Amino acid sequence: MAMPALMEQVVDGPEGYEGVQAGPEWAAEVRRLAKARNATILAHNYQLPEIQDVADHVGDSLALSRMAAEVPEETIVFCGVHFMAETAKILSPEKTVLIPDQRAGCSLADSIKGEELRAWRAEFPDAVVVSYVNTTAEVKALTDICCTSSNAVDVVASIDPEREVLFLPDQFLGAHVKRVTGRANMHIWAGECHVHAGINGDELAEQARTHPDAELFVHPECGCATSALYLAGEGSFPADRVHILSTGGMIDQAKAAKSSQVLVATEIGMLHQLRKAAPGIDFQAVNDRASCRYMKMITPAALLRCLAEGADEVHVDPEVAALGRGSVQRMIAIGNPGGGE
Ligand code: SF4
Repeated sequence: MAMPALMEQVVDGPEGYEGVQAGPEWAAEVRRLAKARNATILAHNYQLPEIQDVADHVGDSLALSRMAAEVPEETIVFCGVHFMAETAKILSPEKTVLIPDQRAGCSLADSIKGEELRAWRAEFPDAVVVSYVNTTAEVKALTDICCTSSNAVDVVASIDPEREVLFLPDQFLGAHVKRVTGRANMHIWAGECHVHAGINGDELAEQARTHPDAELFVHPECGCATSALYLAGEGSFPADRVHILSTGGMIDQAKAAKSSQVLVATEIGMLHQLRKAAPGIDFQAVNDRASCRYMKMITPAALLRCLAEGADEVHVDPEVAALGRGSVQRMIAIGNPGGGE
């Protein structure tokens, strides 16, 4: 296919879109194509700044999936990773859901496959299966109740104390929930996100020492910050300076912060929204290498190709979607599902 006229420099990009770079012309073309396709563009907080800025809505995965179901447009362009676009499809099966690059996976979601969960369930046939939203549609379909980092404690606490719980896939969120609920009959899958590897206890303790006046904001929307959630509870950072916050809560807290410097334990994409919302605060990443390579696969070129060609389309088997929808809806019924907004 011929390269669209507005493409100038830059090297990489999907075939036919090499050289695309973000800029006013690119943004105008994206908006034009979105209108022509009757599409809404949703962007996760961890997307590249230019993708966030061209989107109709920016937020966490669950808020965006719920928005996908509510907006009038019949096509959803989900700028995030694949399991998030699948969740949007599960909640709006009648809509066309597109993702700019279907290879954008998630190391946490990939840490458990449907067949592994089937085998685990067979070992504990009476257990209740609780899954973090970072899971594939197939795993959601085998789940009793989904949870986010905000409501994981409430979801587990709502389960009959006599019944065993299988918690997956995030071992740090599982350890945090087990510590807070004091529940002994909870089994935790040893899954993890590659990004959190940069947010460890030593690093947090070092940051506390070298920034004695800074507060620490932990934004546990994704697997990248659940280790910080766990470590903060272990005392790696002085407790009176730690705030576990959603996106909205972070902005409010930043405006009210006594310190002018705030350390943020999360994927670095989150800093873009925070700096826009509270420009007077010096937001610094606890680890500036905490960048999700899958999130960054949604490039300006990939988004343009997606809108021009209507690809990649996300498909979820209707039976799997119906089962997965049940586990997500049970989570919403328990309340406070906000995963970061
Ligand atoms: S930051 Fe981690 S948990 Fe979140 S999408 Fe990337 S790999 Fe998955």
